[in-house]
Amino acid sequence: MVRHYTVSTNNPVGTAKMAPEGDKTAEVDPQLQVYGVNGLRVVDASIMPTLIAANTNAPVIMIAEKAADMIKATWRNDKPSRFYDCMTAGIAKILY
Ligand SMILES: Cc1cc2nc3c(=O)[nH]c(=O)nc-3n(C[C@H](O)[C@H](O)[C@H](O)COP(=O)(O)OP(=O)(O)OC[C@H]3O[C@@H](n4cnc5c(N)ncnc54)[C@H](O)[C@@H]3O)c2cc1C
Repeated sequence: MVRHYTVSTNNPVGTAKMAPEGDKTAEVDPQLQVYGVNGLRVVDASIMPTLIAANTNAPVIMIAEKAADMIKATWRNDKPSRFYDCMTAGIAKILY
């Protein structure tokens, strides 16, 4: 059984923590770009600095929506919409 099927009922997060550059435990910046690597973002539950006090699926979807907006903004060379800024503020409230 263990050889063929293992799964955790926990919600693992934080293995690629989003944090300011000065934080030695940081993996990605607020744009979800990996420190020290060009052209690579991490977009999943791993960027959450800490485990939230709720189910993780909806915040993961919000992170993905925000990341999609940031990636499009990068390629269009414009700023993310205010709608997603509000979403980010919401995520920040959940995460911190
Ligand atoms: C048992 C269980 C129950 C849960 N129930 C709920 C719930 O009721 N409500 C809720 O909100 N949340 C729930 N969660 C949490 C939620 O499912 C996760 O928080 C969410 O799916 C995390 O999304 P993710 O994108 O970070 O990772 P995942 O959804 O795990 O996505 C990772 C993806 O990467 C792929 N992958 C892995 N390695 C590679 C590789 N080397 N190359 C290419 N692709 C790769 C995988 O196939 C997978 O598709 C539950 C989790 C578990 C384990």
